[in-house]
Amino acid sequence: ITVLGLESSCDETGVGVVSVKLAGDDSGNVTLLADEVASSVDEHARYGGVVPEIASRAHLEALVPTMRRALAAAGIERPDAIAATIGPGLAGALLVGAAAAKAYAAAWGVPFYAINHLGGHVAVDALEHGPLPPCVALLVSGGHTSLLHVPSLGQPLVELGATMDDAAGEAYDKVARLLGLGYPGGPVLDALAKQGNRDAIAFPRGMTGPRDSRHAFSFSGLKTAVARYVETTHRRGEVVDRADVAASFQEAVADVLSMKAVRAATDLGVGTLVISGGVAANSRLRELAQSRCDAAGIELRVPKPRLCTDNGAMIASLGAHLIHAGAEPSSLSVATNPALSVQVSQI
Ligand code: ATP
Ligand code: MG
Ligand code: FE
Repeated sequence: ITVLGLESSCDETGVGVVSVKLAGDDSGNVTLLADEVASSVDEHARYGGVVPEIASRAHLEALVPTMRRALAAAGIERPDAIAATIGPGLAGALLVGAAAAKAYAAAWGVPFYAINHLGGHVAVDALEHGPLPPCVALLVSGGHTSLLHVPSLGQPLVELGATMDDAAGEAYDKVARLLGLGYPGGPVLDALAKQGNRDAIAFPRGMTGPRDSRHAFSFSGLKTAVARYVETTHRRGEVVDRADVAASFQEAVADVLSMKAVRAATDLGVGTLVISGGVAANSRLRELAQSRCDAAGIELRVPKPRLCTDNGAMIASLGAHLIHAGAEPSSLSVATNPALSVQVSQI
């Protein structure tokens, strides 16, 4: 059967289509048929962050065209089921997407599945690397930084720990702003860091002290340290080497994230680590995580960058897994929830 996924929790309108086998040899295998994304990121750039009102309006305008493109790309007139993000995210943005998904489901007479965006970020990996074994997932995005235990398909995710303050992507965006690099900060900082020396400045590794929580993160101290470094350098009348700052900042983030993620997988005795969310696109994080996983004998799975950031395919992927696991469709009266907890997600 085909499952269409609709994502609208932030500034991307995503419509993805997958097919899933419900019986037979390769039962549970999910194949990507279409992945169309329209982003309003350029409209937010001059404000230095996502403006909720602009995002909602952009979803309204992009929804039907993106839906049409995805159906055409998948070569279908209508899917057999619809899955849509109902949280967490921006209230207005979620409402636009979820209302549209319910309307399509009612008009086409197909079942509707309410999806947790964060579970989608993890489930997307199955599109590229096959069904997920029991694993630890590091979810690193613009709004979240969490270590999750994914016991097995069909079971709720367990949050082992999360950031106490800024999300990793948020730290990237704030530091990029500080260095005058524009928004979103991740990709620009990642590129600039390649020209710098990652050992130039010793930035702090938050939450890594002996009494700090094993699976929690903190990035606001790092952000402050970067700000203080830039200020001090200016005050001395010296020029800030932005590439060195970018590389040293990136090293601090990637070091803590990869160390804690690999340690969590080892703690829990699982053989697989999945890294997902926008920051999983980061080149240094991928590199460090790979070498540490190799050393620990853990399989690392990271979706390709396009699937790491928000898209409809990840919602379709989780929807397909739920359907395959025998989940009941959601009621069309299910409400969106901007603060939906990651632990409610089924995968
Ligand atoms: P959430 O999923 O928590 O609701 P979101 O959906 O807005 O948040 P994503 O779209 O998954 O987040 O990720 C966006 C974030 O990823 C931004 O903060 C961006 O700076 C960051 N990012 C993107 N590419 C990179 C990169 N190469 N290196 C570091 N960060 C990156
Ligand atoms: Mg985004
Ligand atoms: Fe996201």
